[in-house]
Amino acid sequence: MPSDCLFCRIVAGELPATQVYSDDAVVAIRDIAPQAPTHILLLSRKHIASVREIGAMDGSLMGKIFEVGAELAKRDGVADDGYRLVANVGRNGGQTVAHLHVHLLGGRPMAWPPG
Ligand code: AMP
Ligand code: ZN
Repeated sequence: MPSDCLFCRIVAGELPATQVYSDDAVVAIRDIAPQAPTHILLLSRKHIASVREIGAMDGSLMGKIFEVGAELAKRDGVADDGYRLVANVGRNGGQTVAHLHVHLLGGRPMAWPPG
């Protein structure tokens, strides 16, 4: 685990976060700067820098992240109206934390195309 990775430290419990889900592969926390009434980050427990670095063994992890996202959307009451699951990748993707995560955004209509 890279000791300087913010999300590795949150997953390890070294830094505080509002955790809403945890299992052996995925940890979900509330985003510190929410962009919608529901803004949850689905983090891999394993350090993977981004979607670019996903390997052949990580397919089930991505499936699990989306499954947990769908469950937490239901739990937060945003599933019926719809929501967005998004992974920012690299510089042009707007990624600011180099640890695999998917944003769950809901509770308001989302614009398309994104900014
Ligand atoms: P991204 O820009 O796609 O890499 O997403 C990183 C997200 O992490 C942003 O939405 C930040 O608001 C969020 N974030 C940064 N630091 C923290 C933290 N300590 N706890 C929870 N969310 C954070
Ligand atoms: Zn990490």
